[in-house]
Amino acid sequence: MLSNRPLISALLFGMFPVAFYLLDFINYSRAGKLLITGMATIGLLSALAEKYRSSLPRWLLFFVSLVLFANLSFHAGMRDIFGVAQDEMMIMKSILSTDGQESYEFWLQYKPYLIKHLLIFVFSFGLFYLLALKPSAKKQHIPISTTILSFWILFFVVGHLEKSIRRGNPFVYFPHFYNEYRQELTELKQLDHLLQSNQTDSALSGVKYYGKDPKNTVVWVIGESSTRHNWSLYGYGRETTPLIDSIQRELLVFDHILAAAPITIPAFERMLTPATKADPERWKKEPSVLQIAKKAGYHTYWISNHTTDAHNGITTLFARQADEVYITNKGKARGEGSYDASVLPAYQKALQDPYDKKLILVHLLGSHPAYNFRYPDSYAKFTGNFDDEVAKSLEKRGRAKWAIAFRNFYDNSVLYGDYIRYTLLEKLQQSPDAAHAAWIYHPDHGEDVCHHTNFSGHNKHAIEQWEIPMLVWSPVKMKGNTKREYRLDEIESTILGLLKISSRYYHPDQDILIKNSAIHDTN
Ligand SMILES: [Zn+2]
Repeated sequence: MLSNRPLISALLFGMFPVAFYLLDFINYSRAGKLLITGMATIGLLSALAEKYRSSLPRWLLFFVSLVLFANLSFHAGMRDIFGVAQDEMMIMKSILSTDGQESYEFWLQYKPYLIKHLLIFVFSFGLFYLLALKPSAKKQHIPISTTILSFWILFFVVGHLEKSIRRGNPFVYFPHFYNEYRQELTELKQLDHLLQSNQTDSALSGVKYYGKDPKNTVVWVIGESSTRHNWSLYGYGRETTPLIDSIQRELLVFDHILAAAPITIPAFERMLTPATKADPERWKKEPSVLQIAKKAGYHTYWISNHTTDAHNGITTLFARQADEVYITNKGKARGEGSYDASVLPAYQKALQDPYDKKLILVHLLGSHPAYNFRYPDSYAKFTGNFDDEVAKSLEKRGRAKWAIAFRNFYDNSVLYGDYIRYTLLEKLQQSPDAAHAAWIYHPDHGEDVCHHTNFSGHNKHAIEQWEIPMLVWSPVKMKGNTKREYRLDEIESTILGLLKISSRYYHPDQDILIKNSAIHDTN
């Protein structure tokens, strides 16, 4: 008979991430990564401890288990304190750059949380120690075979092959974030320097507001992962945009808009600055629309339902250029992130603010995967919908049921997004700014939602990733060329046009609204 102790230890360990998940201490993704890397590590060390009965592997097993449990409680505590959509990079940065006073204040402020999670740690590790680590005097030692040891080595290696899963292991996670932190410090210093020099760019001195009305409010709503192929406004077979459909006569609805890039960060770099697909680095050298607007006397807002984690570092850098920044995503239970309605209070406040000239940029979470987290239950109109025309046609083209379920989730998120867009416009129309305002909406890019295969997600090879909706409203209906093919690389000229700012960064040929110069009090 062979020893099955490594397997038992690994399984016992595995119960903890699962229990933490079921208790809503950590999310499914964190739990999954800890489960795989933790079980692989415990199993391997346990096999080594059985194979070589010296004290070293046993101490190693004890120490590593301790770290794994501390890590489990660390993540549970951070989630408790900072919410589920926590900014990992920011937390690591704070930890790494903290001093004694700060740590003390942190302790004072979060004492109840810290004590709670310390107790959870002591309890869970104690339990694991008793069940799996405590050497038993009675049991005689059963040696384990080389095959079993090899199995655990293999499991360990395979469990750590995939980068994002590997990072579930605290021995990878913490060094990884430490390196990222060091690297980001260096890069941010360089970028800060660059962006500073953009602000003193001699061309900015020529920036001028030319509007006759001293008041002007521009609301720039940037959505997320929204393809126009799933909007009823653009002829989709499901009624996903009923509110906007009902007021389409008041809007300019553009038919041939292409994303600047198929993913968020480069799309932002190209939309907010003169950078283009052909010249993607220009955002580092030339000012953003926010900087130009500020220079022209605008009060600028960045209201975002996105998190500001390391992944979104560059958008954070742009956000910092605004006078007021509101990150409204505070997370919500297992839903991973708040619904887009969370931007409304900050938006309302911005609309009520007494500044003459305002640029209000609203960055929505829109239809970002996972789609089913993007809308409340009351918008789950298409859930379980497998027999309407859209679903039938997908089925006819060979799509699996689960893929159609993703399409249903996605369409629900478009429907909820319709309510958000409508509300953002309605609030502007009801505000004191309405008489001298403009409102523009477009997402950063589209999405492939089993349009071609069972795949749903970002797919730069799918046309749906690029073809996106764009809407413009102003109190006087504009007459832009809605049939023009237009790539959002050039949107900064359209925004500068709406802002009525002249500068060398404004190119009339790149302003899609230029045809209606009549309402643009050009002098
Ligand atoms: Zn995006």
